[in-house]
Amino acid sequence: MRWILIVFVTALPVPLFCGSVVLENSTIKAVFNENTGALQQLISKKDGWYLQKRPELGRSFRLDIPLSHQRFNPVFGEEQPPPQIRHEKNGKRLRFQWKNVRSKNGGRLAVDFTGVAELTDDGLIFTAEIDNRSFHTVETVHWPILGDLSRPQPDALFSQLGMDYGGMKSLQLFPKFDNMPGYFAVDYPTQMLQTPDTPFSLITAPARGLYVGYHDTTAAHLVQFMARLKPGYLGYEFWDSGENPKGDSLAGQPVHLEFSVLHFPFFNGGESGKLQPVVLVPFQGSWHRGADIYKKWRQSWFQSPAKPDWLQQVHAWQQIHVNNPENDVRYSYRDLLKIGADCARHNVGALQITGWTIGGQDGAYPSHDTDPHLGTRTNFAEVIAQIQKMGVKVILFNKYTWADRVSPWYESELIRYTTKDPYGDPHYYGGYAYQTPTQLAEINTHRFSPLCHLSPAWRQVACGEFLKSIELGADGMLYDENQHHGDSRYCFDATHKHHVPAHIYAGDTRLATDFHEISNPKKADYLFAGEGNYDLQFREYHLSYFRVDLNHVALHRYVAPYQEMMIPVSGYNDRNMINLALMNRYIISYEPRNFKGRLDEFPQTIEYGKKVDRLREKLSAYLWHGVFQDTLGATVLSDGKIYTNYSVFIDPNCGKKAVVVVNYSYELPVEVGIGFADKTKKWTVATPENPVPLVFSGIVNIPVNSAVVVIEK
Ligand SMILES: [Zn+2]
Repeated sequence: MRWILIVFVTALPVPLFCGSVVLENSTIKAVFNENTGALQQLISKKDGWYLQKRPELGRSFRLDIPLSHQRFNPVFGEEQPPPQIRHEKNGKRLRFQWKNVRSKNGGRLAVDFTGVAELTDDGLIFTAEIDNRSFHTVETVHWPILGDLSRPQPDALFSQLGMDYGGMKSLQLFPKFDNMPGYFAVDYPTQMLQTPDTPFSLITAPARGLYVGYHDTTAAHLVQFMARLKPGYLGYEFWDSGENPKGDSLAGQPVHLEFSVLHFPFFNGGESGKLQPVVLVPFQGSWHRGADIYKKWRQSWFQSPAKPDWLQQVHAWQQIHVNNPENDVRYSYRDLLKIGADCARHNVGALQITGWTIGGQDGAYPSHDTDPHLGTRTNFAEVIAQIQKMGVKVILFNKYTWADRVSPWYESELIRYTTKDPYGDPHYYGGYAYQTPTQLAEINTHRFSPLCHLSPAWRQVACGEFLKSIELGADGMLYDENQHHGDSRYCFDATHKHHVPAHIYAGDTRLATDFHEISNPKKADYLFAGEGNYDLQFREYHLSYFRVDLNHVALHRYVAPYQEMMIPVSGYNDRNMINLALMNRYIISYEPRNFKGRLDEFPQTIEYGKKVDRLREKLSAYLWHGVFQDTLGATVLSDGKIYTNYSVFIDPNCGKKAVVVVNYSYELPVEVGIGFADKTKKWTVATPENPVPLVFSGIVNIPVNSAVVVIEK
């Protein structure tokens, strides 16, 4: 006989239909099946959106617990005997417990799963505990699962959005579905966003959405926000996309989107552990309202390291590449004096020197020795000091991500510190090809292995290499590729003094913290810059440098309005990229000829950049020190249609606004009208070419490749 033990700690559950328990407040209603723990319905009460619609498609949890003879061994919550259910916190928290779960291919295992759902003012929060007394590893956990994520408007665009390399990653859910794994590997089209690149997924439809946040600051585990289209495409379009079915059923099967949060805790036999909170909050409005939920949580833990004073003023950089693995020496250390003088003459405040280490850019890593082809270490230190005397800050390009497998050091020592796969092999990364036909054909490219920052022995070596850089006297470093480890996620090396396996990204903070301990006593205002920092990294890195295109959506800028971000400008008359920097408050990094050339090689670009930075200085209360609002706070129309290439800044001291509108077209000027909610206020307009503000009539003509700034008086 099946039995259910229900312990009524406080309030009685609210029955919806037979065999269900409910969590409900003024905004959310969540219905669970008391026999399976399946989330049968999830309703956003403010707008009536059934986020999880058909109860019969509701899902409970899933574990994956490989056996020694068969790795495929899932555990499905719906296939278990009914859980014990406890009602806690005045009926606002449900605790479902399954003991000795039944697996598909291994029978019952000594593993208990406890799933907790709690309704708070912050949203519907899912946590879990796993007690693994078996000899097996609980590798992954799906919790929660929305088995029938439904669209609020049947025909409208439906997507999941997340943060990605300074911008936004957008995966379409409907009317087409973006597939990511190999078609041969899965039954159903599947897509995922993952931490720590994005700490949340925003499931968005027009004017509403669902925030799914993973609220953890340790990066201890990988978490994926996974969606599947079942039973599959109506029409297949190559391996990565296809047309979704429109109706509720297809070939006798229900059509549904299954959305789950997939944790990779790797709890080994004998280990117990918890899953960090997953927070679900429906929101009304554009994606910004979903990002605001993350911003609010971010304020509870985020602390920025103190920034160097110079970084906070309007300024620009130049990046210069001096050498590469084919020894194509562009500039000796001494030659850099000319580059420094270029910067001083053009009022460029910082020079990033790339490829200064032995073997050039992307050769001989992680060595941060100087290269005899370029001069001596003493030469280089003197050159850095002389450039600093010109009023230009010097930043050195550093990298601790890879071991160069070509280097003798790799075999003699570094191989011990590389991240390992479950089979004991070092992970592998393809590296980067430079300049010669042979290398561009990938015939002799230096291949890499990622280094494990969780290994104390490696961190000690890395700190020695960092010392070599900082002792040259530069004002800071840009740690290139600090934000990733190739495709490697977990390290299985048992000699690294970490849990086996360990999420490699959890080492990023440890390495950065060790570096700060070195730099603080030597140079308290030493700049830590990184590449495309994921958000947690802004706790250690002052600046994030990344590349964008003109479709860039400034999601990270919106989430982190006070963090420094920088983009390269490389074209010969690159007004569009400079205007993009203006619109999103990015520092300009001048990079003529893909950072091989000198500033005077692209006079039109440098002259326009200077004009934009002069305007940003003049209007710095808005455009540099203001709070970026993306498109919120103004309406911009052109030809009666919504015009999207604009942004709004608010001066935090007085609350006044400025709106930057840009025209990316190379052929056509654009006439835009700008509307504001408050019609009584007076506005002026300025441009990089005409920085003195003039009265703004409400309509402005923007020439090709140009920008205007409309300012509240
Ligand atoms: Zn390791």
